[in-house]
Amino acid sequence: MNLNEAQLADRDDELAPFRSEFAFPVGPNGTPWVYLCGNSLGLMPLAVPSAVQVELDSWARYGVEGHFEGPHPWMPYHRRLTAPLARLMGALESEVVSAHTLTVNLHLLMAGFYRPQGQRTKILVEAGAFPSDQYAVDSQLKHHGIDPAEGLIEVDTATPRGLDPTTSIVDAIRSAGDQTAVVLLGAVQYYSGAFFDVPTVVREAHQVGALVGLDLAHAAGNVPLSLHEWGVDFACWCSYKYLNSGPGGPGGLFVHERHHHRRDLGRFEGWWGHDEKSRFEMPRHFVPAPGAEAWQLSNAQVMAMAPHAVALEIHDRAGMERLRIKSLRLTAMLEQILQEFLGQHPQLDGRLLTPALPERRGCQLSLNLRHRGREVFDHLHQHGILADWRNPDTIRMAPVPLYTSYTDLHRIQSVLQKFV
Ligand SMILES: *Cc1c(COP(=O)(O)O)cnc(C)c1O
Repeated sequence: MNLNEAQLADRDDELAPFRSEFAFPVGPNGTPWVYLCGNSLGLMPLAVPSAVQVELDSWARYGVEGHFEGPHPWMPYHRRLTAPLARLMGALESEVVSAHTLTVNLHLLMAGFYRPQGQRTKILVEAGAFPSDQYAVDSQLKHHGIDPAEGLIEVDTATPRGLDPTTSIVDAIRSAGDQTAVVLLGAVQYYSGAFFDVPTVVREAHQVGALVGLDLAHAAGNVPLSLHEWGVDFACWCSYKYLNSGPGGPGGLFVHERHHHRRDLGRFEGWWGHDEKSRFEMPRHFVPAPGAEAWQLSNAQVMAMAPHAVALEIHDRAGMERLRIKSLRLTAMLEQILQEFLGQHPQLDGRLLTPALPERRGCQLSLNLRHRGREVFDHLHQHGILADWRNPDTIRMAPVPLYTSYTDLHRIQSVLQKFV
C-alpha cells in the first residue's frame, strides 16, 4: 500500500469522520500518535468534558434534588446506558445493566452462578487468562474450600494459526463432562486476540450441564455479540477499552433471561438491586428488581457514567455492523504488513499469535518476536506508533476502526521498513 492508496481508502471510508470526534494524544515528534492501544484504554470522545460538566452543574444547582431534577436525573441514571448496551451485547434490555467494575462483577456473578455440588465442582477457563480473572477464579474456588489445583481446568488454546482455537475448549468440556460447573472464558482472549466461537462453547457446555460465563473486556465494542441468542448464561465487561468511557469507567453485566426468576442463586444483594417501586420505603427484606438490575448493589456512578453515555452514543451512530467490516479490513491489512516485515527479518524469529481466520479474531494482532522484540517495539515508539508491550516478547496492536485510518497503517508500514 502506498501513501496515495491509503489516502484514497480514507477518502472512501464512510466511518472516517468519526476520527475527528476523538482526542489524539501527541507523540514524541509533536504529531498525534498512531494509537494502537484502544484495547487497553480507548481514546476520549471530545464531547466528554461538556457531558461531565452537565452533571457537575446539576450537582451545584440542585444538590440532592439532582436525583430527580436536571437534564438526566441521577436516580435512574444507569438506564441511559441500558438500550445502547443491549444493542452492543445482542441482549434484551432486561438482561443488561451498567454497574460496578469488571472484576467486581465477575465476583458477583460467580457468587451467584458458581454453586459447586457433588461431582460438579470445577471451573473451566482458558489458560493464560487475564491475571485479574485468574485471581478471581482462584479465590472463588478457595471461598468454597476447593484447592485451585483441584478445582480449576485450564485449557491451552494456542492453536496452529489456520485453525479454530475453540476446538481445544470443546475437547476439554467433553472430557471433563459433568465435573464442570462453570465454563468461564474471555470471549476475545486479551493476549492472543482470539475470538472464541461462543455459540459452540455454549452448546457443548450446556450439553454436559455446565453454565457459561464470559468476560467481554476485549470483546465489547470490538466484535458483534448475540449473548441472548447464543444462550450465554452470564457475562461482564469493562467500558474503558473498546468502549471509550475513560480510566476506571463503569463495568456492566449480563444475566440471561432464563435466570431472572430463579430463587436458588447465591446472589449478593444491595439496595440498588431492590425493586425500585418500594426501594425508598426502606423495607427490611429484599425484593429483586426485574432482570439484571437486581444484581446492582449501589447507586449509579454518575460522573463515570456520563462519559460512558457519550461514547455509547458514538458507537450507536457508527454501528457494529459497519465497524466490523472496517475492522476486518484494517486488521487484514495490518496482518499483511506484519507478515511482510517478518519475511524480511527472519532473524527476529517472529510469528503472529492471533488466529488467521478473520471470524476468530477481533481487531487486535499479537506479534510475538523471540529475538529483539523490545527493539522493534522501541523503534515503533520512537517513530510515533503507540503499541502495547507484553513481557517477555509480544507486541499487541489494535487498529480500532472508530479512529484508525488507512494512512495510519501506511505509517506503520513505512516505520517498519526502516527497522534494521
Ligand atoms: C482489562 C481486563 C480486566 C480489568 O479488570 P478491572 O476490574 O476493570 O480492573 C479484567 N479482565 C480482563 C480479561 C481484562 O481484559
